[in-house]
Amino acid sequence: MNAPHALILPYPAQGHIIPLMELSYCLIERGFHVTFINTEFNHERIFAAISLPGQAKLIDGVHFVTVPDGLEQEEDRHDFGRLTTSLMTVTPSFLEKLMRNNGAVKFTCFIADINMAWALSIAKNMGLRTAGFWPAAAGILAAMFEIPKLIQDGVIDEEDGAPKKKDVIQVIPRLPPMDTISLPWNSFNDAYTRKIIFNYLMTNMQASSNAEMIICNSFEGLEKPMFNEMPNILPVGPLHTRFQSREYPNLCQLWLEDKECMAWLNSQPTCSVIYVAFGSITIFNNKQFQELALGLELTNRPFLWVVRPDLTNKSINCTYPSGFEERVANRGRMIGWSPQQKVLEHPAIACFISHCGWNSTIEGVRNGVPFLCWPYFADQLFNQSYITNIWKVGLSLSLDENGLISKDEVGSKVEELLKDRDILAKSQALKKLAQKSAMEGGSSFNNLNKFASFLSDI
Ligand code: UDP
Repeated sequence: MNAPHALILPYPAQGHIIPLMELSYCLIERGFHVTFINTEFNHERIFAAISLPGQAKLIDGVHFVTVPDGLEQEEDRHDFGRLTTSLMTVTPSFLEKLMRNNGAVKFTCFIADINMAWALSIAKNMGLRTAGFWPAAAGILAAMFEIPKLIQDGVIDEEDGAPKKKDVIQVIPRLPPMDTISLPWNSFNDAYTRKIIFNYLMTNMQASSNAEMIICNSFEGLEKPMFNEMPNILPVGPLHTRFQSREYPNLCQLWLEDKECMAWLNSQPTCSVIYVAFGSITIFNNKQFQELALGLELTNRPFLWVVRPDLTNKSINCTYPSGFEERVANRGRMIGWSPQQKVLEHPAIACFISHCGWNSTIEGVRNGVPFLCWPYFADQLFNQSYITNIWKVGLSLSLDENGLISKDEVGSKVEELLKDRDILAKSQALKKLAQKSAMEGGSSFNNLNKFASFLSDI
């Protein structure tokens, strides 16, 4: 019998591409061929970042193909309203063509990010096995499935999801409560984008019924009440990057990784370095950027700070405080993009100042690193509640009267976090649980096998 061949489609953003690449390696290890779809725009960036020509088609066992996202080269891919509208209108016909005419290759199954679930029906109509992958907390997926009920109960508006009243909802008992104004789609400030995103989410939630199976990058012990309540969602995380005993395969990073920071980490004492990173989307203003810099300086500890080239809006010129770079030169490193998973695994790391994106959250959990939470938007507030209130593996940073996280807040919370024995112990316990789930015989490992054998059954 021929090996099954999975066609995999992420939403075209870094936090979606990475976990689906990790899933790809898990499937290859289970005997699959994998073809991975990136948008043309991202494909060019990824291959430029790893210094390979864009025509390269096969890396670390994964075949790459592309579809257009419908935007012009210079358009802003962080304009999610524009990007999602374009994806829905331009991409389907290319996807259909790809599924039909990929030369001699016959795909046997299609795995779509649930944020691209609209594409599942195309594969289903062609007789492929279909599955959905949810890249955020399962608790957020539960909230999404609740949308029709929230509308029916008059909690949110049916047109754009705006809260009809300020309320705190409890989707599933023992999960963090959610403030209606902080529901993921409500974090988009402008009404037009919010409406597009809300409707896009609703479309995808309905379309997810075309997935024969849904998996997510979480594990049983992490969101137990959720999995008890929704047994049809299979947790397969924390997904791992180790592949065929090689250390780290290609994860499709959109930025060039600073590899030298690993040598620098090697020279730092155990549990000494503050790692600071805000994922791929977060934007800072100059005042906040400077307060963070001064706060890190105040800690008097070594730090590794990811300052993405696009961490600030083009219109805002963010600069380090005067003399900052010289003053911290012997203990601080600012880099454009880190090999984050390797960094979090390094024994020199003491804590993680994080925006609490789900991948960063699960990567920190997997490595037992305590968090200082600095959420920015979407699901990050919910993840912060998990970290600080439910798992108790981190602390929140508080805003001052000007709506800023001050340098003193950064300085004092780092100290408070690093002295907290209880948080440290809980972080280590959760790490053990995460590792146990992912290793042979663990619940996530078994779920992955179940998933793979379901998709192989053709
Ligand atoms: N990441 C990385 N290097 C960096 C910052 C982030 O490799 O300097 C990776 C990180 O390991 C994670 C992903 O980018 O896998 C970010 O996903 P997350 O869900 O945390 O945040 P998002 O970018 O979606 O806001």
